[in-house]
Amino acid sequence: MMWPSFQWPFIIALKISWNEIVVTYKGNPYPTRFALKRVKTGMNKYFRHHFICRECRRPVGALFHYRERLACRHCHDLVYACSMK
Ligand SMILES: [Zn+2]
Repeated sequence: MMWPSFQWPFIIALKISWNEIVVTYKGNPYPTRFALKRVKTGMNKYFRHHFICRECRRPVGALFHYRERLACRHCHDLVYACSMK
């Protein structure tokens, strides 16, 4: 049987629960936990989950893997292409 390839070869396991995701990196026996925060959307009773960045504690919608670490775009000093003028 052929297993489908995983997009992130540095991650060997991802586990999600109600309030956190647990990431297990290749070559590291200790899993890294990212807390999840429920953020209300504009539509009254709906909410979405945001990750809590482990470095700055900000709730963010996306984490980026760059230079061997998962963190938010603020911590990686990333800017969107559309904001480069
Ligand atoms: Zn951050």
